[in-house]
Amino acid sequence: MNDKNQNLQEDIFKHLKESGIKFVRVLFCDNANIIRSKAFHIDLLPEHFHTGVSITVAQQALPVMYDAVIPETGLTPVGEAWLVPDWSTLRTLPYAPTHASVVSDIFKDGTPWSLCPRRFLKQAIASAEKAGLQIKAAFENEFYLLKSTPDGIAPTDDTVFASTLGMDINRPVIDDITDCLIAQKMQVERYHPESGPGQNEISIRYTDALQAADRQISFRETVRGVALKHGLTASFMPKIFADQAGNGCHLHLSLWEGEQNIVPDSDGIGGLSKTSQSFIAGILEHLPALMALTTPSVNSYRRIRPHFWSGAFRTWGLDNREAAVRVPSNFAPPSPTHFELKTSDASANPYLALGSVIVAGLDGVNRGLDLGEPVRVDPGNMIPTEREVRGIDALPSSLAEAIAHLNNNDVLKNALGAELAQAFIAVRQAEWEAMKDMEIEEEVKILLSRY
Ligand code: GLU
Ligand code: MG
Repeated sequence: MNDKNQNLQEDIFKHLKESGIKFVRVLFCDNANIIRSKAFHIDLLPEHFHTGVSITVAQQALPVMYDAVIPETGLTPVGEAWLVPDWSTLRTLPYAPTHASVVSDIFKDGTPWSLCPRRFLKQAIASAEKAGLQIKAAFENEFYLLKSTPDGIAPTDDTVFASTLGMDINRPVIDDITDCLIAQKMQVERYHPESGPGQNEISIRYTDALQAADRQISFRETVRGVALKHGLTASFMPKIFADQAGNGCHLHLSLWEGEQNIVPDSDGIGGLSKTSQSFIAGILEHLPALMALTTPSVNSYRRIRPHFWSGAFRTWGLDNREAAVRVPSNFAPPSPTHFELKTSDASANPYLALGSVIVAGLDGVNRGLDLGEPVRVDPGNMIPTEREVRGIDALPSSLAEAIAHLNNNDVLKNALGAELAQAFIAVRQAEWEAMKDMEIEEEVKILLSRY
């Protein structure tokens, strides 16, 4: 080990010891989008510093319902992979003060593993770099806060969008979540009670793509961990109550050349540069297949409905909350400076979701795809023939449809690589088979605490 590494290791050890840390959680997010971790005791840090902890390769073969290997993934319980810490992501956990966490890259046979989701995102970022682009992103999370009742669970409030009563009711837990996010270097931007009872939204600042995905892991962990301390259940599950707003996790993106945000161009359609137009066109072109990665659970498709602002239409619009891609305007120029994919939820593995969106966008840029005109009305109010004329086709209405599109999409499958594509699709397929006939109440029993 060189001196620099030795010093870093010693500094980290000292810092963690002084902070009273007993365990370091080495985190990964699997093909079922469950965040998992094995932890090592702090006294054994020198042993784990470079190699992390090992898991069976079968971890990437598990569906969301239970820990059982899906054979069609091509994986078996034979073979070991290593969760190698990326120490730049080390955080002590304010809501679990004797634990720290670190995000990992998964290695096998001494090299980055083809089934590591973080590796996939890194490759997508590298492809963007090759095209001269840097991607910045933020995941905008909505979640429900629920309390236990004699009959099960119930929302913490019965308020509506941006209700100040909702703010008063949930203030202790929201303040605590905010402090814990900031303590972990996630800059909180805005907060409001969302439409659903007990539903809230907290947005954090955008950052480089890899860090944005890492932060999505920490965000989910933090909200759930803090809620638990307050005796509450927090859930990002896409649709918990059939008749209430779903939980979106809209993906905000901007394209940069060095320090220059290249999204705006006042001469372009909608004030967008040609590159960002083509990038968005690429997302829309691949969206039916992308949905297997951005809205990957069986439950996701209950959320994607017209008039629920959930990105149900394969189109784009300026400040149009019913379009899959919304281009939000700024108060003053430059405007717009970013765009938002609404057909996305927090049951998505953030590395796979963001990586595949980048791949789709770059395909649009490479092919110089045209974006066409924005939709200036609520597409849900158009009659079907009008939508047809405008080329606004329906998006998949079930996970099975999205999987079929992904199976036929060589751009995304090639980018994922044969092994990751096989395992990911097999896990999606297993979830579809197991859950396709379930009522929403049965889905809630399984998914509420997973996401
Ligand atoms: N709850 C909506 C969704 O499912 C989003 C509402 C909003 O635009 O913030 O995506
Ligand atoms: Mg919202």
